Amino acid sequence: MSTYDYIVVGAGSAGAVLAGRLSEDPSVTVLLVEAGGSHRNLKVRVPAAFPTQFKTDLDWEYYTEPEPHLDGRSIYHPRGKMLGGCSSMNAMIYIRGNRADFDGWAKAGATGWSYDEVLPLFRRSEANSRGESTYHGSTGPLHIQEQRSPNDVSRRIVEAMVAAGFDRNDDFNGAEQVGAGFYQVTHKRGKRWTTADGYLAPARRRANLTVMTQAQVLRVRITDGRAVGIEVERKGKQQFVQAAREVVLSAGALNTPQLLMLSGVGPADHLSEHGIATVVDNANVGSHLMDHPLVLLNWDTTAKGTLAGAQNPLHLLNFLARRRGLLTSNVGEAGGFFHTRPDEEAPDVQVIAAPGFFKNHGFDTYDKPAFSMALSLVGSKSRGQVRLNSSDPRAKVATTFNYLAEQADLDSLVAGVERARAIAAAAPLHGVTGAELNPGAEVRTRAQVEDWIRAELQHTYHPACTARIGTEQDGVVDPELRVHGVEGLRVADASVFPTITHGNTHAPTVLVGEKAADLIRTTK
Ligand SMILES: Cc1cc2nc3c(=O)[nH]c(=O)nc-3n(C[C@H](O)[C@H](O)[C@H](O)COP(=O)(O)OP(=O)(O)OC[C@H]3O[C@@H](n4cnc5c(N)ncnc54)[C@H](O)[C@@H]3O)c2cc1C
Repeated sequence: MSTYDYIVVGAGSAGAVLAGRLSEDPSVTVLLVEAGGSHRNLKVRVPAAFPTQFKTDLDWEYYTEPEPHLDGRSIYHPRGKMLGGCSSMNAMIYIRGNRADFDGWAKAGATGWSYDEVLPLFRRSEANSRGESTYHGSTGPLHIQEQRSPNDVSRRIVEAMVAAGFDRNDDFNGAEQVGAGFYQVTHKRGKRWTTADGYLAPARRRANLTVMTQAQVLRVRITDGRAVGIEVERKGKQQFVQAAREVVLSAGALNTPQLLMLSGVGPADHLSEHGIATVVDNANVGSHLMDHPLVLLNWDTTAKGTLAGAQNPLHLLNFLARRRGLLTSNVGEAGGFFHTRPDEEAPDVQVIAAPGFFKNHGFDTYDKPAFSMALSLVGSKSRGQVRLNSSDPRAKVATTFNYLAEQADLDSLVAGVERARAIAAAAPLHGVTGAELNPGAEVRTRAQVEDWIRAELQHTYHPACTARIGTEQDGVVDPELRVHGVEGLRVADASVFPTITHGNTHAPTVLVGEKAADLIRTTK
């Protein structure tokens, strides 16, 4: 078959949700096209193993252009290339964001996206192990559970946060986001649970859903202002597949703007540099790129039970036989949110604490017991862009995040480092905290801390906003996710966020998938 009613490009946090939902209607046909393959792999299933996916076939393996405010460093950016997309690779922390994020979106023109309007969709998506409540759903496709074998060191870190002045918070997705506690995770009985598990696996029995894997979409074909289908490459062969109703791009915040530009939708001068004929001149495509910069602090510890030694085969046996033990850890088990900018409604810094040594995306190892605190700047203000390196769809895009372009971002991280040090020194950790490994005791003055941040800064793997909701002048899609200037083309993934949410980005991207399904179903 080479015509489908709907073609969804990319089977990630939003695409798998959207294809699953659209195919609930037996009267329509849906094609889901995914560049990667299966996610059935122990590196995906075993929560603690997520960093072992990096720089493998499961990873798009991006690198930024030299970052101007990070001493010209090029930063590694993994992205999941498989069914489930980044939901099959991520650290599984389930955070929706702050009420102010969605209300801010709606206030800025994203009609229909206020907190009160999106809450029912978050609830619909969720099978929360805590059951039904004002904030949570219990019958949705996405399993959200407590850590199955929470680490004692993580418990100490939460207690130390409380001793250092945090309120205890048992539900960051409830009434209040600020405070300290354990994260709920996208797990089912200790195993990772992806959007491919929740939304695609049950849908794949449906005759009206076709899932094409190992198939890279090269561009959308736009004829007379209408998206008529996609050009796709599979096993070295190219084919055209027609869309009778709509094409939806869900290829993620780096690949979706690439596909738009390859299809002639983007900044006209940039497209012409690459010999691409402009269909719609829109400078917002690939612009406004946002992420959450992150720094990692590490300490030696004398506490027992850290992730050191998790590679011991006994832990794998425990995982395989009982789905318990160290390998069920998502590494960033606990933490919380706090303000360094009291004038802002949402907290700007997130602590992601790990009962083990974690540095350089997990590539740097340390064989002694340690714990880590990552500071993720969820209130980041700096913006960058995605541009084409080439008109060849197989080439990687050129991304510049401009991390720390805004002084406010650096200020918040400096304040965050001070707070993290206070947590490590607080009573519940004090007796078991050893040497500060990173940044290290010698990094004390503000200038030293700033230099260290610029030298070590990474990110929380959250690119977003590159095809944001807005008007034709300041955005790429309208609040119904329709691409300005093209009929029959929508975007549904983290690219459409008008601004990045204050928290991890998987849950709000699932929301985008759910919302897109409703919007498409009602336009039939
Ligand atoms: C290492 C890591 C850790 C993270 N940790 C967390 C966390 O703990 N909690 C959290 O909430 N968020 C986390 N995130 C972020 C979160 O997972 C992402 O924001 C979210 O998954 C993005 O969803 P998406 O649908 O926009 O894109 P993706 O999930 O990336 O989906 C895009 C899909 O499109 C496919 N694709 C791309 N181009 C093409 C093409 N041309 N043709 C066909 N298919 C294509 C890709 O292979 C991919 O499957 C993490 C991300 C990473 C990488």
